Amino acid sequence: MPVLTRLIPSPVVVDIRAGALDDLGCVLADERISHSGKLAVAVSGGSGAKLRERVAPSLPGADWFEVGGGTLDDAIKLAGAMKGGHYDAVVGLGGGKIIDCAKFAAARIGLPLVAVPTNLAHDGLCSPVATLDNDAGRGSYGVPNPIAVVIDLDVVRAAPARFVRAGIGDAVSNVSAIADWELANRVKGERIDGLAAAMARQAGEAVLRHPGGIGDNDFLQVLAEALVLTGIAMSVSGDSRPASGACHEINHAFDLLFPTRAAAHGEQCGLGAAFAMYLRGAHEESAQMAEVLRRHGLPVLPEEIGFTPEEFFRAVEFAPRTRPGRYTILEHLDLTTDQIKDLYADYVKAIGS
Ligand SMILES: [Zn+2]
Repeated sequence: MPVLTRLIPSPVVVDIRAGALDDLGCVLADERISHSGKLAVAVSGGSGAKLRERVAPSLPGADWFEVGGGTLDDAIKLAGAMKGGHYDAVVGLGGGKIIDCAKFAAARIGLPLVAVPTNLAHDGLCSPVATLDNDAGRGSYGVPNPIAVVIDLDVVRAAPARFVRAGIGDAVSNVSAIADWELANRVKGERIDGLAAAMARQAGEAVLRHPGGIGDNDFLQVLAEALVLTGIAMSVSGDSRPASGACHEINHAFDLLFPTRAAAHGEQCGLGAAFAMYLRGAHEESAQMAEVLRRHGLPVLPEEIGFTPEEFFRAVEFAPRTRPGRYTILEHLDLTTDQIKDLYADYVKAIGS
């Protein structure tokens, strides 16, 4: 008999609203994620203290663990500290580094993870990947998807604007990543997972076309949902393909070539996506994407994140080497340095200043 449907690995609870944090304990108890209330909560050493003060009353049975940083060692240490505590679940409460450490630690000790992100900087908050610094630079580690995602829009709105804005660039870049996937399908016969592509594309388009900004909860709701859906799209396809094409190769190139100067992931991906759309000849879409990114205060030119055009050319040229095997508009065009320079000059003209 053919397989008639498939099961999608996805969180049992997705709770995105203003004030969600205050009900965290009840939600986890009601949804049977934590019967006993025994939770291991990972927070940052700095800003985590304030959060702890606020959340502790609703989680009376929780033990709290301070996470040192975002390295593989930090995550292993965290797992070691939590091991043997007989917890129902691990809660990652904080920014991307905390969530990634908590994801890895939860996977290592065999517990489900509840992700409670405090900003919307990228789509890793609900993805099956933990990004951690290791001795060789930075690694991506496969982990189970979170069992629950709780996002309090009031908390997110209070985060530094740059960390919220960055998520817009990451979400919008889905549109370019899907175009790369379709290109690989046409040229190389790579199989597209239609459901994963639909989820990631709709997430990107919703953010791209929303007239609001990070100051209002309507917009934050759409952005948070877009980032969650993108994470699930990656689980559906089993890799990062729905959300990562030339845009992300350019982002990785910035990270690898200029490790101490790299900007936020979402800032680099948004810029990479606007340029990649131009490269593929989608000039109107590129200009529209650039306009939206600008409206949100995100960079569309390398100078806006402290890079010279020449450094950008180097990043674009290096980009295909960051993800061997991934076919995008960059591998397709296989541009020389001079071609990159010329196309960049055209792009700058097209998006206006
Ligand atoms: Zn990304």
